[in-house]
Amino acid sequence: MSEIDSLVGAQHAAPLLAKMSRSTQIPEWCRPLPRPAYKSLQRVLPDDAWFEVYKVAPGVFAIYEPHQAEETISYLIVGHKQAVLFDTGMGISDIRRVTTKLTSRPVVVLNSHTHDDHVGGNWQFTFIYGMDTDFTRKNAKGSREDAQAEITPDQLCGDLPKGFNPKTYGTKPWKISHFIHDGFKVNLGGRTLEVLSTPGHTPDAISLFDRANGLLFTGDTYYPAPIWLFRPETDFDAYAASVKRLAALAPEVKLVLGAHNIPVAEPSVLPRLVTAFESVRAGKVPPQKSDGGKTLYITDGIALLLKTGAVGAH
Ligand SMILES: [Zn+2]
Repeated sequence: MSEIDSLVGAQHAAPLLAKMSRSTQIPEWCRPLPRPAYKSLQRVLPDDAWFEVYKVAPGVFAIYEPHQAEETISYLIVGHKQAVLFDTGMGISDIRRVTTKLTSRPVVVLNSHTHDDHVGGNWQFTFIYGMDTDFTRKNAKGSREDAQAEITPDQLCGDLPKGFNPKTYGTKPWKISHFIHDGFKVNLGGRTLEVLSTPGHTPDAISLFDRANGLLFTGDTYYPAPIWLFRPETDFDAYAASVKRLAALAPEVKLVLGAHNIPVAEPSVLPRLVTAFESVRAGKVPPQKSDGGKTLYITDGIALLLKTGAVGAH
């Protein structure tokens, strides 16, 4: 598969490329699954019908949702005293049941940002950190529209879980227990996580740095599929500064863990992302494809999905 095929085949372009096959009713994005990268990962809890769970580092579990086009990945990061759940997924199945099986420690929730596909299970948890932004406060009220768009037939690969009711599906509201800012640290016992404010994709986007273990959780600021930079809440200047900040950490990073498609990436993607975004912004990268008001750019193995007309003369 060419670099372009592998990136475009990646699900996060699904709304751009969604096409139903007339013969089988399987959406195009669903066909290349399972992704080959998963073969080398250690799977745990293989019996869950909706989530696939992988142990990607000591005390770190990737909780992946391969049956929905976002292919969202949430992470459970476990310490001696408590665990952080970094995102709670789509809210289509019961993520709390999964975390309960993975750890007996108390679980607190931190969100990489508050788009619907990362906060769907927030309501199931009692302690939730929130970035101190109006965007976070607004999304904490829940919504139905974005969630409903996630379960159209072209967005699903396989069956919805038993007992799921598509008619009532929405993002349920949650209560923010404690507001946080850049530099906030969570001590899990034997492991400390540092919150890095990395706005751009959204105003409340954060990355999480486990400095001692060289693990950088990047949310939607970086993942190995077309990165969504087309929504009204996206800020290019903020994104450029955020990816530079992450690239500066690259020498200390062993593993980059993003929030969609594939949970592991090399730290070398971080400086490449800076250059890729700068080149796209400067109009130096020809567009690959435009559809539905969005244009896809791919350069140096990095794919970015922008609002059509946002850069250059295209
Ligand atoms: Zn997002």
